[in-house]
Amino acid sequence: MEKFSQIEQLFHVLDDTAKALQEELDCSYLEALAETGENLFHGRIIQEELSEITKKRLNKEYQNIVLSKYSREELRKAFQLAILKGMKENIQPNHQMTPDTIGMFVSYLVEKFMEGKQSFSLLDPAVGTGNLLFTILNQLKGKKIQAYGVDIDDILIKLAYVGANLQEHSVELFNQDSLQPLFVDPVDMVISDIPVGYYPNDARAADYEMKADSGHTYAHHLFIEQSLRHLSPGGYGFFLVPNNLFESEQSQILHKFIKKHCIIQGVIQLPISIFKNEKAAKSIFIIQKKGTETTPPKNVLLVQLPKFSDQAGMSNILQKIDQWFVDEKSK
Ligand code: SAM
Repeated sequence: MEKFSQIEQLFHVLDDTAKALQEELDCSYLEALAETGENLFHGRIIQEELSEITKKRLNKEYQNIVLSKYSREELRKAFQLAILKGMKENIQPNHQMTPDTIGMFVSYLVEKFMEGKQSFSLLDPAVGTGNLLFTILNQLKGKKIQAYGVDIDDILIKLAYVGANLQEHSVELFNQDSLQPLFVDPVDMVISDIPVGYYPNDARAADYEMKADSGHTYAHHLFIEQSLRHLSPGGYGFFLVPNNLFESEQSQILHKFIKKHCIIQGVIQLPISIFKNEKAAKSIFIIQKKGTETTPPKNVLLVQLPKFSDQAGMSNILQKIDQWFVDEKSK
């Protein structure tokens, strides 16, 4: 169990030192947070241009922190609190960090789907700060997971890099547009809180089966197709998608693509209360890439989650999901 006082103490050091670095380096809070995270990881101040007085101030703060005394979850949570603070400054809705509640629930699903497997590979093509990926890696600590993350935003991926170092996760990270060719071998699983909206690069979209007949194609469709390209046959994809995924003007193209290449395993609607409004609400869309040995489930796992705070409702739903796995395994 993580200790709140530990998390709070680390958060305050991250926050104070990030503010000092932000001021002196004249950068954003998130950039400064990545810098202070690097200092903590290396055990020394790496920004040579700082004044002696700031260096002294930082060193005084860093003295209070012994990283080895923190669990991975304590490190993730303290870093997450600081990222959240930085994101309040200015961040596009599409670049928001994936909240813990969703990460925890996805981890539970991954554990269920991967029961019996001791090792597997995992790709997040919209890894952002890595919060979703690290939540999963921390929850599945008994498994050996080869992880890859890609993101177009250089600041967010730097935060992912620092987070991976602090939590001692070996993750291969790539800073690029995920819809361009990726240099990642086929993986057993893709998990991603994918960006929603139009992809502006029509020339690149033309390389995809799901390209729109006219105008821009939906980036979230292309992310699903790109993920499929990087999944091994029989591999699973877990995507956070808008609830209206199958109701847009491009949904016919998506239907056709999914039918041809995938088996739908489940659609889990997340509680609307965790989103700003009904329009922003999302579901977890679970697919399996077709392979010679794959068969569709007897029943697709269709679930609408109650509020996470509704303990009785949640326990009821979890029982239903557990039963689904028992039924599907025994078929
Ligand atoms: N799971 C992430 C986390 O916990 O921080 C948050 C993912 S956020 C909802 C979506 C991410 O997609 C953002 O980090 C954004 O930078 C990234 N993104 C948007 N377009 C992209 C593209 N074409 N290629 C790669 N990443 C992209």
